[in-house]
Amino acid sequence: MEALIDAHGRPITDLRVSVTDRCNFRCRYCMPAEGMPWLDRSDLLSFEEIARLVALLARLGITDVRLTGGEPLARREFPRLVSMLRPIEGIRDLSVTTNGYLLERDARALVEAGIDRINVSIDSLARDRFHEVTRRDALPQVLRGLEAIAAFERVRPIKVNAVAMRDFTEDEVFRFCELARSTDYQVRFIEFMPLDGDRAWTADQVLTGDEVRALIEARHPLEALPREPHATARVYRFRDGGGEIGFINPVSEPFCADCNRIRLTADGELRTCLFSIRETDLRAPLRAGADDAELERILRDAVWRKELKHRVNEPGFVAPPRTMSAIGG
Ligand code: SF4
Repeated sequence: MEALIDAHGRPITDLRVSVTDRCNFRCRYCMPAEGMPWLDRSDLLSFEEIARLVALLARLGITDVRLTGGEPLARREFPRLVSMLRPIEGIRDLSVTTNGYLLERDARALVEAGIDRINVSIDSLARDRFHEVTRRDALPQVLRGLEAIAAFERVRPIKVNAVAMRDFTEDEVFRFCELARSTDYQVRFIEFMPLDGDRAWTADQVLTGDEVRALIEARHPLEALPREPHATARVYRFRDGGGEIGFINPVSEPFCADCNRIRLTADGELRTCLFSIRETDLRAPLRAGADDAELERILRDAVWRKELKHRVNEPGFVAPPRTMSAIGG
């Protein structure tokens, strides 16, 4: 089968699957304290529907699958989905993005189900400040979860992602440097994006990757490493050999030119860009009995029209109606 490609000549090999819009945290840069209007359970794709779409997309060239949410571990029997996707031919890399709260409980089940690597979202390494951001007093449990998954050496790399927010993250930078320098976790700072449920994002709240890096270099000189194709992170190594640290700068340093990513939402919409303002419904044809040829036609057509880039920094930028908690990392 001819691999998926967009009209800009970019091959599409990376799929992010949101398995639920629900989350057990209430991160300030993501959703209001009261949460969001959740999808009905009947609107969610079943594991069998997700597996069918992933298998078809694998035949169309998708090799990397990342499972996200909301919080994916909050979906009942989530490890069973991992075990259904693992044997799919062509899936080379199967990973999960989680807030880590349920990781201590599920680490072994996820490893036995076959995940290759994991991203854990942690925005502060100070218990009170973690509570302040997530509205949950959960840092000790998240760190136990991180240790639990780290005990399985076959799950690598383990990435720790921190959203960088002005007037907050500046006081976290050196705690995360210490984590990066004292463990084999890959720590990355991610710029705050206009995908929050409160619609409170403004450009001046973005603490850019360059600003965080300058803070770090005042104490730890860094050296840039070559960028991997399709990579979202700019990775640097500590010149004194103390490990690596990364910066994901979608606002200040977009990486759209060689984007190879598409997303599937928990309710079966295909998103061709994180900032898409249009979506393609796959659930309706799926539940109407469409065969793979019909689904392939819909997928190819949608991917062909994939956005060239996001327009966050342009006048007239329109934030997507769907927010981060229902799109996933
Ligand atoms: S903003 Fe859209 S086009 Fe750019 S890297 Fe992200 S998903 Fe790809």
